[in-house]
Amino acid sequence: MIIAVDGPAAAGKGTVARALARHFGYHFLDTGSLYRMVAFALLRARQDASDVAAATAAARGLNPQGFRDEDLRTEEVAAAASVVAAIPSVRAALLDLQRAFVRKGPGAVLDGRDIGTVVCPEAEVKLFITASPEVRARRRQLELGSDSYDAVLAEIRARDERDRNRAAAPLVHAADAVVIDTSEMNIDEAVAAAIAAVGR
Ligand code: C5P
Repeated sequence: MIIAVDGPAAAGKGTVARALARHFGYHFLDTGSLYRMVAFALLRARQDASDVAAATAAARGLNPQGFRDEDLRTEEVAAAASVVAAIPSVRAALLDLQRAFVRKGPGAVLDGRDIGTVVCPEAEVKLFITASPEVRARRRQLELGSDSYDAVLAEIRARDERDRNRAAAPLVHAADAVVIDTSEMNIDEAVAAAIAAVGR
């Protein structure tokens, strides 16, 4: 059983996907963290996120165990992740890691941007979790403890733009995905809506 959870940044898909995995007893993979690891490895080595050769080498040699979560959760790393994510050879390298994960029984929940469209088009359940850019910026601002709502909103919009308009596996909802807009929902409501959608 595979549950694909896609959507833009800070829409609540990570929270929903984790809760689904717990509820159904499935494995969980946050695929965005893989792109963040590649970005962080480049930043740490003072290399440019748009350097195709360096980014591809980092993705191919990636050891997901070698990173601390707090290093990956910054906006700087998020922005660089969406730059490396536009490089097809980076996506190809990370695809192998993601496909290997999917084969784990009894089931897997993956969250990302292209799970229902590219990584697991065969997923039994596809959810697309979204919310308005303003609501997502407010949530991200709280999460980061950041002072500037405007700066966070600008960063969210820039990342949406890059993720939606890239040629390789752009952020788009699969034709067979159930769309859940969490703009007016709290976490419990979003999780309940997702569990209901899986059960349909
Ligand atoms: O989900 P998260 O915000 O951690 O993702 C960071 C970036 O990684 C996204 O903005 C996107 O560019 C990229 N990404 C992707 N495909 C995925 C997951 C994340 O392109 N499946």
